[in-house]
Amino acid sequence: MLETVILGKYDEILSSELVWLCTSCQSCLERCPQRIEVSELLVELRNLAAEKGRIPKLLLERAGRIAETGQSTPVSRAGLIWREKLNLSPIIPANVDEVRAILEATNFAGWTERARTKGNDRAV
Ligand code: SF4
Repeated sequence: MLETVILGKYDEILSSELVWLCTSCQSCLERCPQRIEVSELLVELRNLAAEKGRIPKLLLERAGRIAETGQSTPVSRAGLIWREKLNLSPIIPANVDEVRAILEATNFAGWTERARTKGNDRAV
């Protein structure tokens, strides 16, 4: 992927799902002797891809769930039972009004609309 960036093949890399696979775990930064911040590069590439409306459909769906419920993934009944068995504290629901305020301040609706109108077949 870095070679694609170095060669300036931005359209190729911005169309790739590779840029969306980074979890920002920072393992690469910890191991790189040159301290190259790959995850920061990937954030920039994701931002460029999003500006072009190239956001994977799955991420748009999760973002939509966050807007509706404050959670990207609903907690399963089994998960709740296990939490209780393991004596873990209950899950405190997110403040959806605060989540919506953040999404409004960051123009979430604009990003999703761009993905719908300009995106590729991976977008909604
Ligand atoms: S690119 Fe780096 S930060 Fe991203 S998932 Fe891989 S090791 Fe982690």
